Order: sequence, then structure tokens, then C-alpha cells
Amino acid sequence: MSWLCAGAQDQQLEERTMPTTGEKPGPGIYACRDCGERVILDDPDDTLPPCPECDGTDYD
Ligand SMILES: [Zn+2]
Repeated sequence: MSWLCAGAQDQQLEERTMPTTGEKPGPGIYACRDCGERVILDDPDDTLPPCPECDGTDYD
């Protein structure tokens, strides 16, 4: 008999950091998760604002 199921299944925790309002994710283009409105940050010190369209706070 062989033991194929060793219980060694790695649980992959996807570590995706979603930038949210108030963070400083760095320069880039961030799309609102709710409405897709894009916010452009061009300075490392810029803080992500609430979405100008829907006031959302989650970005991709
Ligand atoms: Zn939005």
C-alpha cells in the first residue's frame, strides 16, 4: 500500500494587496473596484483618494 494522500496540500493564500483609500500605494493607475473609474497617482507620496465617481475606497 502506498500513501498518496499525505495531507501536504499547500493552501495557497493569495497575497494580493488591494490598495484602498488613505494608502500610499505609489505611482500608478488605480481602477475603482465598484465603477472602474481610474485614479492616477504620480507621486510616491500621493494618498489614494476616495473614488471621484462613486466614493468607493477599494481599488485594483
Ligand atoms: Zn468608483
